[in-house]
Amino acid sequence: MNAIEHLRDTLRAIVGPAGVISEPTELRTYECDGLAGYRVTPALVVLPSSSAEVAEVVAACHRAQIPFVARGAGTGLSGGALPVADGVVVSLQRMRAVLEVDPTNHRAVVEPGVTNLAISQAASAYDLYYAPDPSSQQVCTIGGNVAENSGGAHCLKYGFTTHHVLALEAVLPDGTLVWLGGDSPEVAGPDLRGLVVGSEGTLAVVTKVVVRLLRKPETVRTLLADFPSIEQAADTVTGIIAAGVVPAAMEIMDQLAIEASEAAVGAGYTLDTPAALVIELDGPADECGELFETVQKICHANGTTKIRIAADDTERARIWTGRKAAFAAMGRISPNYFVQDGVVPRTRLTEALSTIAAMGAEASLRVANVFHAGDGNLHPLVLYDESRGEHDRAEKLSKAIAELCVDLGGSLSGEHGIGTDKACSMPVMFGKEDLATMDRVRRAFDPDGLCNPGKVLPTPRLCGEKPGPYRPHPLEAAGVIERL
Ligand SMILES: Cc1cc2nc3c(=O)[nH]c(=O)nc-3n(C[C@H](O)[C@H](O)[C@H](O)COP(=O)(O)OP(=O)(O)OC[C@H]3O[C@@H](n4cnc5c(N)ncnc54)[C@H](O)[C@@H]3O)c2cc1C
Repeated sequence: MNAIEHLRDTLRAIVGPAGVISEPTELRTYECDGLAGYRVTPALVVLPSSSAEVAEVVAACHRAQIPFVARGAGTGLSGGALPVADGVVVSLQRMRAVLEVDPTNHRAVVEPGVTNLAISQAASAYDLYYAPDPSSQQVCTIGGNVAENSGGAHCLKYGFTTHHVLALEAVLPDGTLVWLGGDSPEVAGPDLRGLVVGSEGTLAVVTKVVVRLLRKPETVRTLLADFPSIEQAADTVTGIIAAGVVPAAMEIMDQLAIEASEAAVGAGYTLDTPAALVIELDGPADECGELFETVQKICHANGTTKIRIAADDTERARIWTGRKAAFAAMGRISPNYFVQDGVVPRTRLTEALSTIAAMGAEASLRVANVFHAGDGNLHPLVLYDESRGEHDRAEKLSKAIAELCVDLGGSLSGEHGIGTDKACSMPVMFGKEDLATMDRVRRAFDPDGLCNPGKVLPTPRLCGEKPGPYRPHPLEAAGVIERL
């Protein structure tokens, strides 16, 4: 019996025979996440049902020195849940219980396989909700959200996952079960909870999450404004923030994205407008009404050609359906696409967008844009046709766009993580010493390198990189940030 067969039997004893998948055809279901261009078939998939089972599963992998990768819904877009060949995928899909909603303390305790939307649905009876709202919220899990520090349209005002996670129960790579964080937002000692949030499944497997719930706002006002150019839509975003208004959300879609979304869901966006901007304000009715007027004036000052104001919740939901369907709708206008995720300072949005358009034209590839404009978080979608041999050109363009964001003073990722996709670009943003420090932190949790190896940090084997000389980040060169 080889090591994998031995581990398979051990895992069957822990979770029951039905909780271990080893048939090659069934394993293929788990061979990729939302970054479907990368595929690896794992040796085994295990589906534990409790924290204790996860701890036993991880301890068994550790004893056998076999790598493992945690997996939620597999909607990740950076290849974070890509399996390791000859390794184990730990699927958290059986752990889907909302264990507690505490309306007095505005918090909930949930298992990692609970979907993002299910938390708000469970809290809704108490007039509460969970704020971070990735567009994949109907299917993505809170465990995946924690691992990616996921964002969403309303993170402009309310912050990212890390601002809404009070505590975590997690299994360390040797199988030890720990609690990190606590009931209050401030706990003594280093913030290990904060370290695990956003670590892309490389430090621990999250088995319970204590989330903060917010009271639903008194009023929500939403509009959809058309613009003659994407640059004018972007200038409107900058103008609104400069005027001191912080909307709950500001999202831009360009003409290609609108075309795809309309073909999929028909939410009533204008088909021939070069850009549309969704703006949502929430809060007390008086304040919202006044700021909504200010926002409309700024739209007009930047040349809006049409403003559609949501008259009620149904129309508001329709506008959001159009925006949230945009990624998945790309299949309507292109057989294949890469979703990129970079951040630029808001003031450089227009420059970034025109450079991306020029790069697309030079590569003879179409690039659609849908993005969280208020955060400067771009999502260029590079469209290509695999059957016409365009994959490598599209991948190169997508990588170049991410690296452009760094050159403009931004970041390689806003919310989708680094994963497999951008590990090799990390040296563009971080010096050798920074990467070595990150590696030391990782090894403090996982000295044997078993927990989601090959993700986030570049390795010479994956990237063939030779550590180059130190390159200051543009913000460092400009004196905005400092290297300590
Ligand atoms: C149509 C579409 C729209 C999207 N919109 C957004 C958006 O608006 N904002 C946004 O931020 N993202 C968005 N995403 C990306 C994706 O949905 C998020 O990254 C999400 O958090 C992934 O959750 P998941 O359950 O699918 O995780 P998976 O894809 O299964 O895993 C993602 C990462 O988390 C790790 N992981 C999963 N569960 C655990 C766990 N319990 N413990 C430790 N590590 C774990 C995995 O190892 C992997 O590294 C979108 C994706 C799609 C397909």
